[in-house]
Amino acid sequence: MSDIEHEYTGEVVCPYCGYEHGDSWEYGMEHDGDSTEIECCDCDKKFNATLSVEYNYSTSKINCVDNGKKHKYKFRTNHMSQKDLKTVKGKIEWIPLPQDKWKYNEIFKCEVCDEEEYRKISREKYIEKYKDDYDYLYAAFYKKYPEIGDIVE
Ligand SMILES: [Zn+2]
Ligand SMILES: [Zn+2]
Repeated sequence: MSDIEHEYTGEVVCPYCGYEHGDSWEYGMEHDGDSTEIECCDCDKKFNATLSVEYNYSTSKINCVDNGKKHKYKFRTNHMSQKDLKTVKGKIEWIPLPQDKWKYNEIFKCEVCDEEEYRKISREKYIEKYKDDYDYLYAAFYKKYPEIGDIVE
């Protein structure tokens, strides 16, 4: 008599007539294994319904510091910044900077938690280590913004 006629359906389905009861949550079953007796509103027979809940978990890493650990930084790339965010007439825009305001960084990334850290380096050091990148970004900048003064010391 306790044969389960309809297993793992999205709604309560009457095992006698197959009527699908919408809004199954209204029967008050909340937790995995909760059972209740339901009277079918289509064929008027009583039957048992049991709720099965499938649990899904999502996880993401947290900052190493919150785990009481130090980051394991590894060099990722260099970064030369020739623009800065400024508010112009109420809108936030990237504004090209004169050459003496450019910023030079090396970006390190933690191998464990993926946190990125920008480490400032001098212009001299940047050119020494990344001359090709410097030349390329320099040329691209002045091609786009010829009106910005080229301050060569
Ligand atoms: Zn029924
Ligand atoms: Zn980390």
